[in-house]
Amino acid sequence: MSDASVRLGTPSTSTATRALLLGAGELGKEVAIELTRLGVEVIAVDRYAGAPAMQVAHRWHEVDMLNPAALRAVIDAERPHVIIPEIEAIATSVLAEVEAAGEARVVPTARATMLTMDREGIRRLAAEDLGLPTSPYLFVESRDALGVAVERLGYPCVVKPVMSSSGKGQSVIRTAEDVDAAWIAAVEGGRAGGTRVIVEGFVDFDYEITQLTVRHRDGVSLLAPIGHTQVDGDYRESWQPQAMSDAARFRAQEIAERVTEALGGWGVFGVELFVRGDEVLFSEVSPRPHDTGLVTLASQDLSEFALHARAVLGLPISSVSFLGPSASCAVLAEGTGVPVFAGVGEALAAPHTDVRLFGKPRVDGRRRVAVTVARAGSTDEARARARAAAAALRIELVEE
Ligand code: AMP
Repeated sequence: MSDASVRLGTPSTSTATRALLLGAGELGKEVAIELTRLGVEVIAVDRYAGAPAMQVAHRWHEVDMLNPAALRAVIDAERPHVIIPEIEAIATSVLAEVEAAGEARVVPTARATMLTMDREGIRRLAAEDLGLPTSPYLFVESRDALGVAVERLGYPCVVKPVMSSSGKGQSVIRTAEDVDAAWIAAVEGGRAGGTRVIVEGFVDFDYEITQLTVRHRDGVSLLAPIGHTQVDGDYRESWQPQAMSDAARFRAQEIAERVTEALGGWGVFGVELFVRGDEVLFSEVSPRPHDTGLVTLASQDLSEFALHARAVLGLPISSVSFLGPSASCAVLAEGTGVPVFAGVGEALAAPHTDVRLFGKPRVDGRRRVAVTVARAGSTDEARARARAAAAALRIELVEE
């Protein structure tokens, strides 16, 4: 697909433009909807059947994407034009082969997916190659080395498996007594059974933001900064715009442009930054739509999902209209069973309020099952509205 002459076929015919979504969660579901609006044939892949994006795709496959042979087989069977990773747990070596052979385009690039699946790859790129400001950090691979690293960095510090997301295996060390528990949590919470962890100095930030950045055929679009709150490393609320000083906003945009340029390719990136006064520190980046960016379903005429679809297809993004202060609120269910939602009518009764029920087939433990989004006169009002809508939803977990 060259940038100047994009041709989009018709799904389920020999002319189809095929997109393979690797990861079929709630973010992938919105991307799949946007792609199908443009007549793209969407094939959704995840390690379990019934995943949200599978429900809106033309076809789906249940595949362990960390298994290179299994991933190769689904690519050979589907022969996609574009491969869109939605998660980090992917055998990225296969993506590199596919890209190098010109078999399909990998979004944004195979190298970007490889660097960002591992906290070490992206941290070294940002801090050591690009010289961007980050928290102080060390990588270690044993309990003893963790103890030494913690003494060097000082208290408090944050420990995370290098292969992890959504706060899995992450903890804060406040005293020497916390080191054992942090080590065990990190080793148990890491993906792919590794024992390598990053230890970071704790940043006492004023607020944190996601700087959504779209790289597309005509250049780079920087969206209004998104503020958010996290609990245990998992997003709970986001709002847009986050008020920032001019200096901090400029710094955030500069960091976002530099890190996304180094990763390259086309698509949406979620650049996560910590802000303290006018100082901005790079934390990490997703080379795909970001969960905190769900707020753009309410705040922009083109959501981050619509922008991703356009960018990855090589289509233009001439303008993005900001519709007004907005917020999103994650809805979690806890327990065991199939989610059933009541109170949807109450949730939708407020003006400029919407919900997305993800259709996740089951909850075992704690899982995000829906999100509410709202627009209002200010971000505070929008947050209150999104929170009220979330509170109105009553979730029952039933056994079939
Ligand atoms: P991450 O998975 O690295 O995005 O971390 C999840 C969340 O944990 C971040 O959004 C922050 O709220 C918090 N966090 C992560 N690293 C640090 C740090 N070095 N200092 C303070 N808070 C952190």
